[in-house]
Amino acid sequence: MVFAVGAGTAELQPELDSPAGFARYKEIQRSGEAAAMLVIPNACLIKAAKNYVVDPGIPMQGAPYSSAVGNLGVDPWGLEDVILTHMHFDHVGGLMEFPGRRVYVHEIELEAPYAGMWSGLMDTVEVIKLSGEEGEIEPGVRWMLTPGHADGLITLLIDTDEGLVAIPSDCVGPLPEYFDNMELPTDFPGRETLLEQWRKIRELSPVLVIPGHYPPFTP
Ligand SMILES: [Zn+2]
Repeated sequence: MVFAVGAGTAELQPELDSPAGFARYKEIQRSGEAAAMLVIPNACLIKAAKNYVVDPGIPMQGAPYSSAVGNLGVDPWGLEDVILTHMHFDHVGGLMEFPGRRVYVHEIELEAPYAGMWSGLMDTVEVIKLSGEEGEIEPGVRWMLTPGHADGLITLLIDTDEGLVAIPSDCVGPLPEYFDNMELPTDFPGRETLLEQWRKIRELSPVLVIPGHYPPFTP
C-alpha cells in the first residue's frame, strides 16, 4: 500500500500489486512529495521432515499466517522451527506469533545494526546461528549466503518432487523485470553483488523462485 502524504492527508494510491506500488512510491518520491509505503512480505511454509515457517513477516502478519497454515492442515502450534532469511523489520516482526521456537538465522544478520531492535523478541526464542557460505538444515532444505540486499541474507533451496524451489527473499526484487532482464539501475544499492547472486540462483535452474515481495515465478 502506498500513500501520498500531504498537509493533513494521506492519499492511498490505487495500484494494488507490489511492483506497481513500488514504482508509484518511487515516482511520488522523485516528484519531491512525501510518500509512505507499507510492505507485507511473502511468508512461506516448508513441509519437509519438519515444518518450517519462513519469514513470518510484519508484527500483524503472524495471526493471518497461523490461520493460513491451519487451512493447509498444519497445526500452527505444532510449528517449532522458524527460518529468517534476514532481519529486516518486515520479515521478523511476525515472530511474535511464535515465541519459544527454534529460529535459524545467519550470524551476520544477528550482528547487523537493525537486528538490535529485535533483541527482546530474540531473547524469547532459541537462536540457531548459521555461519559460512552455505549449509543444510535437513536433507532437501539447504541455504546459501546471498548478500547484496542484506549482508547475511540467505536464499533457501528446497528439493521438491517438481524440482528445486528457491526462496531468495529480498535478494530478488523489488521489480520483477530487474531479475527477468538481469539488469538493475546503475545507482541501485549493492547492484554488482545482487547481479552476482542472481546469476548463482539462475545457474541452479529452479522451477520456482519465491521473492520477498511479489508473487512466485518460474525463471
Ligand atoms: Zn529486506
